[in-house]
Amino acid sequence: MPPPAGVAELVDADDSKSSAARRVGSSPSTGTTPRETPRIDMKYCGNCGNAVEFRVPDGDNLPRAVCPSCQAIHYENPKLVVGCVPEHDGRILLCKRAIEPRLGYWTVPAGFMENGETLAAAAARESREEALADVTVGSLLAVVNIVHAHQVHVMFRAVLPAPVFGVGQESLEVGLYLPADIPWPDIAFPSVEFALRRYLDDRSQGAERVHFADFDRGSWTRPIPA
Ligand code: ZN
Repeated sequence: MPPPAGVAELVDADDSKSSAARRVGSSPSTGTTPRETPRIDMKYCGNCGNAVEFRVPDGDNLPRAVCPSCQAIHYENPKLVVGCVPEHDGRILLCKRAIEPRLGYWTVPAGFMENGETLAAAAARESREEALADVTVGSLLAVVNIVHAHQVHVMFRAVLPAPVFGVGQESLEVGLYLPADIPWPDIAFPSVEFALRRYLDDRSQGAERVHFADFDRGSWTRPIPA
């Protein structure tokens, strides 16, 4: 499903500056670490509607949104973003985004995992939604911690069995691209570029490895950039 209006679908480095992106869960720019800064946009208890307060509950060690009326503790944890790199006959399926953040930039099919589905099902669903493509999800390709945005991006390899696809509601254009034609400067998110580059490296070596990386506030922190 597309995200609710006003809520960013994916948040990476540059998008954390926008208010729309911040609503998903980027930390406020207080100069403190993410572990010290609960989200600032929760005002009311989802259980009873009373105003919440931020404090460290008994037995815990981090501030939480706590309801002083019904005592509910509203935990905030990282969200999973799931996608895949679909290939057909040596070409990669890419989508030009029709929504913010990164409207007009290119991505592979990816988005927030829904309750009740598996990682592979989420990757397949996003391919259907964004590219009207029925892909066969394959091996795990990359796990990227987007630390400041409180997200983990999980990317799979995938096969598009036939060159059948279309322009989904969240896309402006969808196409199959030879590796040499991938618009690298216009790739929407660092995690997508990471997954695409590792995918192509592995493919050229006949390998299917799993790659891990951490991205925090505009920089790769693992692997450490050269
Ligand atoms: Zn409450």
